[in-house]
Amino acid sequence: MTDDERRAWSGERVEMVRRQIAARGVLDERVLEAMRTVPREVFVPEHEHERVCMDGPLPIGHGQTISQPYIVALMLELLELKPSDRVLEVGSGSGYATAVMSRLVRSVVGIERHGDLAREASARLASLGYDTARIVHGDGTTGWAEGAPYDAILVSAAAGDGVPAALLGQLAVGGRLIVPVVVDEKRQRLVRVRRVAGDQYKREELGAVSFVPLVEGIPELGE
Ligand code: SAH
Repeated sequence: MTDDERRAWSGERVEMVRRQIAARGVLDERVLEAMRTVPREVFVPEHEHERVCMDGPLPIGHGQTISQPYIVALMLELLELKPSDRVLEVGSGSGYATAVMSRLVRSVVGIERHGDLAREASARLASLGYDTARIVHGDGTTGWAEGAPYDAILVSAAAGDGVPAALLGQLAVGGRLIVPVVVDEKRQRLVRVRRVAGDQYKREELGAVSFVPLVEGIPELGE
């Protein structure tokens, strides 16, 4: 990549944050700065580079998508991330949201059920030197017990069966979890859960969203 290309992309990201994110009311300056900094083009297939800062999701292979920039920013703001937090992302896909969160917290682990996507995301994070982030291959509906408890959990795929119990169990007291939940065939809603005490959770229903489904298990060959 040439210096000119790098400058052009960084300019595009500044505009993306201003027009698509800040203008829609995401005001957490740490989130906005991380989204200006992380090179989104690294997480998007080369044939989609023209559309890297487009106001929508883009395909990343295996029928999956990298989320719309605004939705990533909104979810990260709702997670109320602090520099000392340990974070889990379920459905890390391209690794983009994991990368952005790594700029905001102490450590982040992303879990992805597609082995190819997990390997590619892992290589991207390494190439950028984001060494407080890592990706594991597995079924995130059971969370990632090794790193628990987490101060924040981001679920980047829509849960059809309610919030997976394992994730609630891996949330620290005081921790926040953001998850898109399926309402019916056509509708999903963003939900925030706070663990307010050992056995007490507070649930808030937020706006409408559209995510690929959270699928249990590891894919069969060819999926
Ligand atoms: N944050 C990602 C979004 C990727 S889309 C990005 O910005 O690129 C959601 C991802 O969740 C897909 O890659 C899908 O394969 C993955 N996924 C779905 N169900 C899963 C599960 N049970 N465990 C882990 N990953 C899952």
